[in-house]
Amino acid sequence: MSGRLAGKNAIVTGAAGGIGLETTILFAREGANVLMADISEEVLSRAQAKVKQLVPAAGKIETTICDVSKESAVQAAVESLDAWGGVDVMFNNAGIMHARDDDAVNTPEDIWDLTQNINVKGVWFGCKHAVLSLRRHNKTKGSIINTASVVALVGSATPQLAYTASKGAVLAMTRELAIVHAREGYRFNSLCPAPLNTPLLQDWLGDDKAKRHRREVHFPTGRFGEAIEQAQAVLFLASDDSSFVNGHDFVVDGGMTKAYVTPE
Ligand code: NAD
Repeated sequence: MSGRLAGKNAIVTGAAGGIGLETTILFAREGANVLMADISEEVLSRAQAKVKQLVPAAGKIETTICDVSKESAVQAAVESLDAWGGVDVMFNNAGIMHARDDDAVNTPEDIWDLTQNINVKGVWFGCKHAVLSLRRHNKTKGSIINTASVVALVGSATPQLAYTASKGAVLAMTRELAIVHAREGYRFNSLCPAPLNTPLLQDWLGDDKAKRHRREVHFPTGRFGEAIEQAQAVLFLASDDSSFVNGHDFVVDGGMTKAYVTPE
C-alpha cells in the first residue's frame, strides 16, 4: 500500500477512543503499521475489528493493553515494535477528564494525582521510550504528537483544574522536547483540540442542556468538533508533509481560541 505514511510504524495511545480510533483508521489508510494501545482488551478488540473492516488492505494493525501511567507498560509497548524495525510515529493521545475534577477548593487530591499520572506522566513515558527507540534504530527522523487541549491556551470558567494543569504541562513539555531533539530529526508537536463530540466530553455532559449551551455559545461555528477533524491534523503532523513543523501548538478548534464575540 502506498500513502503518506507508507512503511512507517506508529503507536497510538488511547487508540480505542474518539480521536485515537479515527487516527488509527487514517494512519492505516495511509500505509502505516499501527500498534493500538489502550487500557482494556474489550474496547481494543472492537476498535481493531473496525479498523480492519474499514481498511481491509491495511498493514499490521495490532493491539496492546497499556496503562500509560505505568512506565513498564509503555516501555514494553514501544519495545514490542523493535520487531517491526522501531517506532517512527508516536501519538501520545490517551487522557482522562475525571467527573470529580473541579476548582482549586473542591478537586480531591487523589483525582489531581490520577489526572497528572495519566495525562502528563503518560505522555512523558511515551516521549521517552519513543526517543530511545528512534535512537536504537538509528533513525534520522521521527514524529511525536502529544494531545493537549485548548484549555492549555485559554482559561475556562467551568473549572477542571487538574485537567487544565495537565494539558498545560503537555504543551510546555512538548515544546521543550521539540528543541532538545531538533538536531536528531525528531519532531514534537502538540495537538490542541476544542471540545469534541467524543465520549470523553459527551458522556460527561449527558443531556444537560444548560451545560451544553454554556459551551456552545463560545463556538464560532456553533458546534462541537469531530474526532476525524483532529485525526486529519494528526496525520499531517505524523507525515513528512510537516517536515519543518516542530514545537508547534497545533490548534484545531474552529476558531474558538481566536474569538471575542461569536455569531448569534
Ligand atoms: P475518549 O475518552 O474517547 O478516548 C480516550 C481513550 O484513552 C479511551 O479509549 C480510554 O480508554 C483511553 N485511556 C484512558 N486512560 C488510559 C490509560 N491510563 N492508558 C491508556 N489509555 C487510556 O476521548 P478523546 O476525546 O478521544 O480524547 C483523546 C485525547 O484528546 C485526550 O488526551 C483528551 O484529553 C484530549 N482532548 C479531548 C477533548 C474532547 O472534547 N473530547 C478536547 C481536548 C482534548
